[in-house]
Amino acid sequence: MTELRIAIVGFGKIARDQHLSAIAAVPGATLTAIASRNASLPGLPHFATIEELLEKGPSIDAVSLCTPPQVRRSQAAAALAAGKHVMLEKPPGMGVAELDPLIAMAAEAKRTLFATWHSRHAPAVEPAREWLTARRIKSVHISWKEDVRVWHPGQSWIWEPGGLGVFDPGINALSILTKILPKPVFVTAAELAFPANCQAPIAASLTLTDIDGLPVTAEFDFRQTGPQSWDILVETEQGRMTLSGGGRHMAIEGKTVAEAPDEEYRELYRRFVALAATGASDVDLAPLRLVADAFLLGKRTVVEPFVD
Ligand code: NAP
Repeated sequence: MTELRIAIVGFGKIARDQHLSAIAAVPGATLTAIASRNASLPGLPHFATIEELLEKGPSIDAVSLCTPPQVRRSQAAAALAAGKHVMLEKPPGMGVAELDPLIAMAAEAKRTLFATWHSRHAPAVEPAREWLTARRIKSVHISWKEDVRVWHPGQSWIWEPGGLGVFDPGINALSILTKILPKPVFVTAAELAFPANCQAPIAASLTLTDIDGLPVTAEFDFRQTGPQSWDILVETEQGRMTLSGGGRHMAIEGKTVAEAPDEEYRELYRRFVALAATGASDVDLAPLRLVADAFLLGKRTVVEPFVD
């Protein structure tokens, strides 16, 4: 197998928490360089920007963009123009339409553009999808509530336009929802709570449905202290399914039926290596479109300022 020589761009929390160990564990993937303005890794070539990496760096085949969404489009375009495969952290962009030219560039260059949705690779997600294919679904409720100060400390970009605020984790729930339900869903109403000093919401309530009128609700909140919740509850005519822990645990009527160790990021790199072998792309914008529609339809309220 030819090694996919990868450079990480944006060496922040998720790059350190997940990407480093995943690349090290996946056959066919090798970390070759880092491009980050303020961070580096001993023993690896380091460059401040992706432009410097592409111009002066060692030979690489691919970049993994772990920067905030607001800067990823131009980085992806630079990498594709240089003939590199591109892996995008979620969300794939700060807007929906900005992905179109990247998809076209990748197709023309026969290079991979991989928009990742790590939560879709949580171990109980596929069993949940399979279980639901044979059931009549009555309703779905999502509760995705976490403490922003714990999970996103000092990340000012998340509160800026394009940073998504509470939809940064909320889009993970929507990525699971759009994978496990048999039919596409769409947003019919939303309420968004914006801190007085921020450009992105700290909480959101969504109402969604599908072509058959399935009731789907979602509560996202960044102000959760104490127990955190990353849960999806699905009522069916054949029983209640709970997908909890961000897709890591599945129960039917309270009884565990699927649970396994987290392999989300290893799965992403296995898929990236496989895609790059043929230059195929994988870009599913369904979760991002739901978020965009929530912003389009959302009633806005202003809540107390957020201080990190
Ligand atoms: P982060 O800790 O802020 O790291 C991002 C890194 O990108 C920063 O450390 C910074 O490194 C670089 N960067 C920031 N602003 C930049 C700019 N304007 N231009 C160029 N580089 C810039 O954020 P993160 O938590 O790793 O999140 C990054 C992405 O991963 C987000 O889209 C997020 O949704 C996703 N993600 C995060 C988590 C999580 O648990 N945190 C989980 C899954 C996915 P330098 O200052 O060194 O350039």
